[in-house]
Amino acid sequence: MLRLQPLTLLLLLFLSLPALANRFANVEINATPLADNLYMLTGSGGNMAALVTDNEVILIDAQYAELADKINAKLTELSSGKALGTLINTHMHGDHVNGNSALMPKRIIAHANVLKRLSADAAFPRAGLPTETFTKQLSLNMNGQQLRLEYLPPSHTDGDIIVWFEGKNVVHMGDMLFEGRFPFIDLNNGGSVRGYIANVAYVINQIDDKTKVVPGHGELTDKAGLQRFHQMMLATLAQVEQQQAKGLSNEQIVAAGLGEQWKNWHWNFITEERWINTLLQAEPLTR
Ligand SMILES: [Zn+2]
Repeated sequence: MLRLQPLTLLLLLFLSLPALANRFANVEINATPLADNLYMLTGSGGNMAALVTDNEVILIDAQYAELADKINAKLTELSSGKALGTLINTHMHGDHVNGNSALMPKRIIAHANVLKRLSADAAFPRAGLPTETFTKQLSLNMNGQQLRLEYLPPSHTDGDIIVWFEGKNVVHMGDMLFEGRFPFIDLNNGGSVRGYIANVAYVINQIDDKTKVVPGHGELTDKAGLQRFHQMMLATLAQVEQQQAKGLSNEQIVAAGLGEQWKNWHWNFITEERWINTLLQAEPLTR
C-alpha cells in the first residue's frame, strides 16, 4: 500500500482543484426556443427548460452549482431581467439538482421521494432541498402560464416527474428519455425496467406528431423519436429474454451483445454491456 505524507496529500488536492474547476470552465448555456416564452437550455448535465412569466422565470432542473452564474445570466437575458422564482426538479440525480442552492430560487418543487432521498444525503446542501412537494400531480397557474407536473410510477428512479407546458404542446421528460442512447435506469434508487418502458408508452399515447419532446439527455425530439426509443427498449429486452429462455448465462448474454442494429445507442455512460446488465434485472412478468 502506498503511504503518502500529509503534505503530499495536500499538494495533490491543491493540484487537482483547478482540474475540477476546469471541467465547467468552457461550458456554455445555450437556449433553443420551443414556444412563446419557453426555451430548452443545455450546458453540462440534464437538459433544462425555462419558462418566462410576467414576473419571474420558472426553471426545470438545475445542472451543476459551478454553472449557476452562467445559467442565471442566461435566464436574465431571456427574460429581460426577471429573476429565477420557481425551480422544479424532475428527479434526484446530481446532474439535475446539484445547482439547486447555488441558483438561489425562491422555491424548489419536486416529488416527495426526491426530498426524501436528497434529505438522506448528508453531503447535499440543505439550502438546495425541495421546499414544496407533491405525490401525484401538481398544476401551476402563474401569470397566464400553466404547467402540469405529473408523477410517473417507478421507472428511472422512484421520484420522476414529467412537466407538461399547457397550451404549448411541449413536454419535458426529464430522464424518462435519453434521446438516441441507452437509458440509465437507477435500480438502486427505486427504478424499474418495466416501469420505465411502460411510462414511455404512456407518454407516447398522450402526445401528437407536433409535440416537442425535451429529453433529460440528448437532442430535442418528437413523438417519432420517443417511439424509436420505446422500440429499442422493447426489442433489446425481448432479445435478452429470448436468450434467457434458451438457458444462456448472464455472462453469455453480455458476451453475445445486442448486435449491429443497436450499436449507435451505446455511449460512454451506458455502454451496451451496462444496458444488457440492466435488462437482465428486469422484473419477472406477472400475469
Ligand atoms: Zn437521472
